Amino acid sequence: MALTLFNTLKREPQIFEPLTPGKVGFYGCGPTVYNNAHIGNLRAYVTHDLLVKTLRRLGFEVTHVMNITDVGHLTGDDDFGDDKMVKSAGERGKSVLEVANYYTEAFFKDTERLRIDRPTVVCRATEHIADMIELIRRIEAAGFTYAAGGNLYYDVGKFPHYGELTLSRSGDSPVRSRTGQDENKRNPQDFVLWFTKSKFERQALTWDSPWGRGYPGWHLECSAMSIKYLGEQFDIHAGGIDHVPIHHTNEIAQSEAATGKRPWVRFWLHNEFLVIDKGKMSKSSGEFLTLQSLVDAGYDPLDYRYFLLGAHYRSQLQFSYEALDGARNARRSLRDRIRFLAKRASPVWMNRDVPDPDGKALQYREAFNRALEDDLSGPRALAELWGILRDPEVTAEEALASALDMDRVLSLGVREMALEGGGGGEREEIEALIAERGAAKKARDFTRADAIRDALKARGIVLEDGKDGTLWRRL
Ligand code: AMP
Ligand code: ZN
Repeated sequence: MALTLFNTLKREPQIFEPLTPGKVGFYGCGPTVYNNAHIGNLRAYVTHDLLVKTLRRLGFEVTHVMNITDVGHLTGDDDFGDDKMVKSAGERGKSVLEVANYYTEAFFKDTERLRIDRPTVVCRATEHIADMIELIRRIEAAGFTYAAGGNLYYDVGKFPHYGELTLSRSGDSPVRSRTGQDENKRNPQDFVLWFTKSKFERQALTWDSPWGRGYPGWHLECSAMSIKYLGEQFDIHAGGIDHVPIHHTNEIAQSEAATGKRPWVRFWLHNEFLVIDKGKMSKSSGEFLTLQSLVDAGYDPLDYRYFLLGAHYRSQLQFSYEALDGARNARRSLRDRIRFLAKRASPVWMNRDVPDPDGKALQYREAFNRALEDDLSGPRALAELWGILRDPEVTAEEALASALDMDRVLSLGVREMALEGGGGGEREEIEALIAERGAAKKARDFTRADAIRDALKARGIVLEDGKDGTLWRRL
């Protein structure tokens, strides 16, 4: 089976093939660092992580780019309200930079606790102003802009494909205006590329530009930075479902106007929202749950990851503590099952990367891959993990080795669960591997013996053969 992803742009699942065979350029919209991420935001990043890990598992080399928004994102997505960063800095009596640094660090602490891999490139908006100015120049040279009231606007009337991301979703009407109040706009959907003499007098961060001293519109950073790091056309762009009608729609308009190339991005992936009591969780309302608040309530961050993986990323997910309890209990059962198997398995299981080709373990691993290939089905992938752990026809070693392999994508802490179990402590594991290497050497299977030595070396453990046998130490 091939990887199939639901493409918002085409409104259907499509077989994924990258522009360059074997390589994937992926851009996921990053956080606006004016406050902690709420658990809804973190759903978006767990989704990106699931995508990246799946792509890598399937053999693609992925360049994952994520922006950090530290300027220009207004409280309204459509050019209204204050700059979120400036507002937050004012409320806290700090500089914008201090606030940005603090919450960027907090964000990565959260993502680390959720075992989300760091993107290949993390780029800050404020460090890419020159790229944004250059992109606006190109948009301007192509004839898509006008100046009014001190701002430079994008003229959507000049872009015939405007709104295709929204139009392509069934039941949606074309992008609706939530503005209607900015008299400078020729069309209510026009948006600001560069603010100069605007109403945002408190803007702390401004830069010189051909259009006057000011600062960029929010949508610009994603176009400019993704093009910079991934090229003028790339494979996948993702974000929350709320970004479809304005942010991503405007990103497409800007990028395609500047480069003249279509489609700018071939696959658009959108995660549905995490909701509480049917309401949207909003970072700007100040009232929201963070990962830390779940930890303070006694949950492990990975309980929350399990909870998220238990729902498909395109289904709305209702948060409740009862539901989170369910995920915690499931993770406890997982740990118990892993420990039970670890006590029975020979410690060498950790080194059994490739299952017996005729065995059942391989079928589970293939079914696991198929689940991921089917538009990243977390629930089905979890079911395959449980399937192999409970199957009496699969040996403990095969089950554990497969669980560890699946956990490269799921990232639920299988390795630690097994090590805590006592049966498969690291020391025992290393010593069992040394014994296995000794046996391999005796049997003149030097390939195997060397493979074991190299595998240990890759983990920072070196072996020293002496007359008293093999000793090991950490590098
Ligand atoms: P922000 O930091 O506000 O720019 O949002 C970061 C990411 O979280 C974006 O991709 C949003 O679309 C996404 N997002 C915001 N709220 C939620 C939610 N309640 N559930 C899932 N994703 C969300
Ligand atoms: Zn974006």
